[in-house]
Amino acid sequence: MSSTITVRVPAKVNVQLAVGGRRADGFHGLASVFFAVGLYDEVTVTPSDRLTVSVAGADAAAVPADRSNLAARAAVLLGARYGITPEVHLHIDKGIPVAGGMAGGSADAAAALVGCDALWGTGAHPAALAEIAAELGSDVPFSLLGGVALGEGRGELLTPVPTGGTFHWVFAVADGGLSTPAVYGECDRLRDLDGGSADTDLPVPTADPALLEALRTGDATALGAALSNDLQPAALSLRPALAATLRAGADAGAIGTLVSGSGPTCAFLTKDAPSAAALAATLTTSGTCRTAHPAAGPVPGATVLY
Ligand code: ATP
Repeated sequence: MSSTITVRVPAKVNVQLAVGGRRADGFHGLASVFFAVGLYDEVTVTPSDRLTVSVAGADAAAVPADRSNLAARAAVLLGARYGITPEVHLHIDKGIPVAGGMAGGSADAAAALVGCDALWGTGAHPAALAEIAAELGSDVPFSLLGGVALGEGRGELLTPVPTGGTFHWVFAVADGGLSTPAVYGECDRLRDLDGGSADTDLPVPTADPALLEALRTGDATALGAALSNDLQPAALSLRPALAATLRAGADAGAIGTLVSGSGPTCAFLTKDAPSAAALAATLTTSGTCRTAHPAAGPVPGATVLY
């Protein structure tokens, strides 16, 4: 067995994020179509005399380098389940925007589960890893699975969604993040203002058949038309400047635009890889975002590289 394991794990965008009412446990019922894209973090797990964390990458300063890091919590939970003291160093190389609505912390937790499982020879069944992942956070099971999947419940009950090809995206990264709980809170506030209720009288959300069909047939134009995110009004309310980012991408020819998850990263669908590269270059110099990256998908979930 190798004494160091490096795991690569992708970011996600929700191509549909339908938010139902608040449940008794405080979570919202969701129909979330997760889509894994080729923007990655790498987590390297090395034996150590105690549990330590280091973080590298553009946003490293915004990520806790201690046991509160979601990757460290994953190592502790896996160790507890198998009677192993988690004496590892976790090094996280971040390529996924931090607090960007792309599940970066969840990705690192999934990578730590896979890396520690490999290092310790735990041989955990995928279902056991998925159960531990769901304890860590609603998005962690999808970071293990990758591809495209419908998440129901609070997003953790996954059903793989078949796809008919590769889609080409651009992600515009904002300066500074948005807190996911704050965005859900704003979503509830806007719904209350609207005269509706943020609570149980909202219907249980379901996946959009037109969106699933576009994914199945690999039809980028149809997918672009079907993209939807119920958190987008809340993200725009908290960060009005995102409207200019979305407009810049649409004006530059994106065939679909939306805020990624709870934001503030904005996602743009394009028809092919050259269009994505050109749009990323245009957005990067548009003055409406910090930077923009092309990324294709779907891609696999957390995977041991070496
Ligand atoms: P989601 O899309 O799942 O709502 P996000 O992508 O918006 O999440 P994250 O990048 O996961 O947000 O970060 C949210 C917060 O979690 C950060 O502000 C950070 O303080 C904390 N955090 C803990 N561990 C990590 C980690 N490994 N990587 C990034 N953030 C982490």
